Amino acid sequence: MNDRSLHPESLMMSYGYNPEWSEGAVKCPIFQTSTFVFKSAEQGKAFFEVAYGKREQRPNEKLGLIYSRLNNPDLEILENRLTLWDDAEDCAVFESGMSAISTVLLEYLKPGDLILYSSPLYGGSEHFIQHVLTQFGIHIARFKAGQSRKQIEQIVLESGHADKLKMIYLETPANPTNDLIDISCCREIADRFSSIDHRVIVAVDNTYFGPLWQHPLKHGADIIVYSATKYIGGHSDVIAGAVLGTSATIKRIKTLRSFLGNMAGPWTGWLLLRSLETLKPRMETQARNARHVAEFLQHHPKVERVIYLGFLDESNPEQYKIFKKQCTSAGAMLSFDIKGGEKEAFTFLNHLRLIKLAVSLGSTESLAQHPASMTHCDLDDAEKIELKITDKMIRISIGVEHYEDIINDISQALDHVSIEKDHYDITSEELEAV
Ligand code: PLP
Repeated sequence: MNDRSLHPESLMMSYGYNPEWSEGAVKCPIFQTSTFVFKSAEQGKAFFEVAYGKREQRPNEKLGLIYSRLNNPDLEILENRLTLWDDAEDCAVFESGMSAISTVLLEYLKPGDLILYSSPLYGGSEHFIQHVLTQFGIHIARFKAGQSRKQIEQIVLESGHADKLKMIYLETPANPTNDLIDISCCREIADRFSSIDHRVIVAVDNTYFGPLWQHPLKHGADIIVYSATKYIGGHSDVIAGAVLGTSATIKRIKTLRSFLGNMAGPWTGWLLLRSLETLKPRMETQARNARHVAEFLQHHPKVERVIYLGFLDESNPEQYKIFKKQCTSAGAMLSFDIKGGEKEAFTFLNHLRLIKLAVSLGSTESLAQHPASMTHCDLDDAEKIELKITDKMIRISIGVEHYEDIINDISQALDHVSIEKDHYDITSEELEAV
C-alpha cells in the first residue's frame, strides 16, 4: 500500500513493502545480510554507477541493493515510512542520533564557515559543535530561546563571520527547559544571510517532539534530525538516528554516510519498523498522561515550578505565539523544580518505584533524571544559572503507564522529601496536606 493520501498511521504497517517479495510474509523479514547478489555483471556496474554518483538515476530506475552499509530493504522501507510523518522527500537513517547529527554538520560545514546554534542543546550535540567542529576551523556562535530576531542577527554580525554563516542549528522545544524557538523566524534570519551562491541551511533537532507534534519542514527548515532512540524507537531498546529533507539534501547525506560507515544495521531497521506501527497511539497516550501529571505537580506544595508546555498562555505572549504556530501538542516531557535543592531532588529520585531513574526520553516507560548533575552536567555554573537548570530541577519523560499509577508514584516519592518549614514559603495548612 503506497497511497500517500492516507494518514501516516494507516501506512505504517504496509508502506513500501510487498508481501510477494517474501513468500507472502505479512511483515517485512529481517534482511540480515551484508551483501546482495547481482543478476549480472552489467547490473552490478549499473548499481555502482548510481550509488557512487557517476551518473544520475534514469527515470524509473531503482537504486539496486549492493551492500548493507549503503542500503538494505529494512532500512530503505524504514526511510520511506519516516518521510510520511514530516512529509519529507527523503530520509537517511543512522546507527545513532549523534551519527545523524554529526554527519549533517560535517557535510554542510567547511573550515572558515560559521554555525549559529540555539542554547541549550542536547549535551552531545553541544559538545560536538564546541569541541570537534572548532578543531576543523569552523566558527561557532550561539543564541538563546527568547532572543529577538534583531538580537540573533546582531550575534551573527558581531561574530565577524556573517558572510560565512552556513547553518542555523536549533533544538525546539529545548531540553530540559521546554523553551521554544521560532523556526520560521530562523528561516528569515537564514535568508537574510544567504546569497545567490549559498543558502544558509536551517537544521532542526526534532527529537523532543518526535515526528508527531512538530513539523519543522513546514516552517522553513531544510533538515530535520532525530534521535530515533527516543519516540521513534519508543521502547528503550534500540539506538538509532534519522535525517529528513529534500532528495538532493538526503543524497549528500547518504553519500557521506556511506564513507563514514555509520549506517544502521538491518536488525535496528526491523525494530524501528515495528515501533513505527504504534508511534501515534504511544505518543498520544504519553501526551494525555503528561497533562494529568503536570496538573498534579502544579498543585503539590513541595513543588516550586512546573515546566510544561500545556501551561503556556497569554501571560508569556512570545512563547505562546510560537507554541500556537508550531506545535500540535504540549508533548510528554516536563520538568519541575522541587522545593529545596540537590538533596531534596535526589531524595525524590531515589524513592521512585514505577518511574525509572534513567536518562533518555520518549519511551513506553516513564523515566526521571536530574539534568544539572546528569544530562547537562557539562554546562558550567554560569550557563546553568542563565538557563535555569538548577539543582532542584527534575526532568520526567512520561510513558504509557496508567496516569494514576504515575501520579501515585510521584506522590509517594515526594512524601519522602522533608521540607524545612522556615526555609520554604509554605503555610502550616499546606504542610499538613503534604
Ligand atoms: N538529540 C536529542 C535532543 C537527544 O536527547 C539525544 C539523546 O539523548 C540525541 C540527539 C542523541 O541521540 P542518540 O543518543 O540516539 O545518539
